[in-house]
Amino acid sequence: MKKVSVECRNIRLAYGKTEVLKDINLVIEPGEFFALLGPSGSGKSTLLRLIAGFNQQNSGQLLVDGADISHVPPHKRNIGMVFQSYALWPHMSVWDNVAFGLVERRLPKAEIQEKVQSALELVGLEAFATRRPNELSGGQQQRVALARTIVIEPQVLLLDEPLSNLDQKLRVQMRQELLALQRRLGITTIFVTHDQEEAMTTADRMAVMDQGIVQQVGTPANLFDYPCNRFVANFVGTMN
Ligand code: ADP
Ligand code: MG
Repeated sequence: MKKVSVECRNIRLAYGKTEVLKDINLVIEPGEFFALLGPSGSGKSTLLRLIAGFNQQNSGQLLVDGADISHVPPHKRNIGMVFQSYALWPHMSVWDNVAFGLVERRLPKAEIQEKVQSALELVGLEAFATRRPNELSGGQQQRVALARTIVIEPQVLLLDEPLSNLDQKLRVQMRQELLALQRRLGITTIFVTHDQEEAMTTADRMAVMDQGIVQQVGTPANLFDYPCNRFVANFVGTMN
């Protein structure tokens, strides 16, 4: 699979008169595990939804692999998104949940079989294919959500606080699993979190957001050692 970059150029977005994204400039490198860290209400989900195509910016450009995709509809963007709430179909088996996007794309049956099988193997859920979501633990449900997204082989993976519904021990384990999976697939990933430790321990590079503004971008070590302002210093932990 080709590794692609994601670039936000002067992106602005307002809900009514409230500006939620204020001149966002970001370049995420091909194959990078990039964390977007910020407190609740800082605009993280709004930005992810914009990259996925569910929100439209008022101005600015969104480029993937160098091409402006601002006006490309979500289903044609080749971008996969995992939500905090998993959003699995409760009446469908694990297998059918994962197969759903492929069935929608009218892929041949044999191909669907093969892709679903390998996605379930990637997340370690082969043995759970016939279960319903409510017969799974939180961590397993999150793995299904992940499998359902990677099965369509997106070029970009967007993760919106995917671990926040899990207990602390599982979060730490799943964080490592997620990173291992990302490394194996080499897929450009944007991981949204409000948990600084989660960002610091996983990200190649990260951005700290506050009030719709990217405050600083850099490696975790970089932000920790040289925070550009009090907010970043506080948020990444040096002043705690
Ligand atoms: P985060 O994901 O960082 O918690 P959000 O992107 O969800 O932040 O929200 C950023 C701001 O935009 C918040 O002030 C929120 O209330 C506002 N907001 C989000 N979605 C909408 C919407 N659909 N309509 C109006 N305001 C919204
Ligand atoms: Mg959010």
